[in-house]
Amino acid sequence: MNLACDLHSHSTVSDGTLTPTELVQRAHEMGVSVLALTDHDATEGLPEAAAEAKSLEMKFVPGIELSVTWSHQTVHIVGLGIDADNPVLNQGLMALREFRQWRGEEIARKLEKAGLPAPLAGAQKFARGQILSRTHFARYLVEQGRAKDVRQVFKRYLVRGKPGFVAGQWASLEDALDWIHAAGGIAVIAHPARYNFSATRLRQLITEFQELGGLGFEAISGSHSSDEEGRMLQLAQQFDLYISCGSDFHSPEQSYRELGALQPVPAGFHPLWHSEAWQQRIGTII
Ligand code: AMP
Ligand code: MN
Ligand code: MN
Ligand code: MN
Repeated sequence: MNLACDLHSHSTVSDGTLTPTELVQRAHEMGVSVLALTDHDATEGLPEAAAEAKSLEMKFVPGIELSVTWSHQTVHIVGLGIDADNPVLNQGLMALREFRQWRGEEIARKLEKAGLPAPLAGAQKFARGQILSRTHFARYLVEQGRAKDVRQVFKRYLVRGKPGFVAGQWASLEDALDWIHAAGGIAVIAHPARYNFSATRLRQLITEFQELGGLGFEAISGSHSSDEEGRMLQLAQQFDLYISCGSDFHSPEQSYRELGALQPVPAGFHPLWHSEAWQQRIGTII
């Protein structure tokens, strides 16, 4: 069976450029049959996306991508099959959003010091009242002609050692998994090859994640090269993790990969949707 599963994507509720409705419509056009919307630290897009998926008779998984600080670095944990009304999750999200707001002001202050005009208002214009992401600063700086694309803005301004860098103080790994589990979801380590960890450190992350009840590993990510994908698949197998796959789609103009443009999980590996947890929690939602 050709199951075009895309379990990682963004809308205008965080740093994507399509509304939840437009995102679901595009996924449908691209032949995706199971889609998860996983906005950064936000669930506001889920009802709209679910309604559109229903009208298109597409399977929809309510998700989130949580920002975590682990070993002095930002790690992203995707939660799939979450109940967006869960109070434990929402309490946690409030703390993340508070930090995000403070960090946005701090980034703006630093960029202003570096000679950039009105960075907070500029980024807010792109965020359109939704959560403020570094991507919004990047889009503003591109508009200002400071760099040719978003990727270059990150490299020049927003990463460690650059003028607009502010260290993350996000959730702990333990908190993030607690919130996801409280909301009935399944936790997945997002785009594992993207982190600047040594092999030993990445193994340590996986070990802690599994001790906390984490099950999924996004070995197949739109942001992975085929070499990285191969290595991550091996790692998942060694640790007996279930494989998740997601394009991490943000926008038709600037994305790693188109919606659903992913390799199928190769034979011999265990897709997340074969897990008991998926059958029990998500099998009934979609
Ligand atoms: P934030 O959660 O506000 O720190 O923003 C993180 C987001 O910025 C990620 O989800 C990506 O969408 C984007 N991002 C991070 N690093 C880069 C990069 N080097 N190039 C382009 N986009 C990036
Ligand atoms: Mn993003
Ligand atoms: Mn991410
Ligand atoms: Mn993402």
